[in-house]
Amino acid sequence: MAVYNTASDAANTAVRAFLTKIGGNYLGTTFNTSSSRGSKIWETIKCRIFENRCAYCDKKENKLQIEHLIMFNKDEFGLHHPGNIVPVCSNCNKRAKDENNTYKTWEEHLYMICNNNNQLDQYVIRRDKINKHTKEGEFKYPKLNQEENNALRIITNNLYESVKNEFEKAVNLFEELDKAFSKK
Ligand SMILES: [Zn+2]
Repeated sequence: MAVYNTASDAANTAVRAFLTKIGGNYLGTTFNTSSSRGSKIWETIKCRIFENRCAYCDKKENKLQIEHLIMFNKDEFGLHHPGNIVPVCSNCNKRAKDENNTYKTWEEHLYMICNNNNQLDQYVIRRDKINKHTKEGEFKYPKLNQEENNALRIITNNLYESVKNEFEKAVNLFEELDKAFSKK
């Protein structure tokens, strides 16, 4: 993901750090893919479970990327957790939007990719493989109840707004001080 260093980039980074921390809490260990334990889990998902193939288009590729099935942002608050992660190629790692400008679910995104590649007969097979990983596999995603989902939604949105506000306050403060100093 490109970083432009805007207020919303700062806020998104804070949200992702939070969702990574909470994902680790549910997993019982940290799952930072830059740590050796985290990268080992990622290698297992990529090489052993998905056999170095894109989970969406089935292309074999060396540089597969991490895709969060439930999106890793304040709107969907998908946790950074092995059960929410599949390997995808760079072409498939751009979640499409629907006509209302909201992101498609991973199932809809997968369907579109299979359809575009004239492989609709593969849709159910690929969907079931992903579901098996996320619902029954060694690293299955935690079953969050309504209260947990509500808490995640409220906290990620609050964190996002707070960081964005703090950022804007810092910029305003600098501008005011700068004005005051240059008056002297
Ligand atoms: Zn792909």
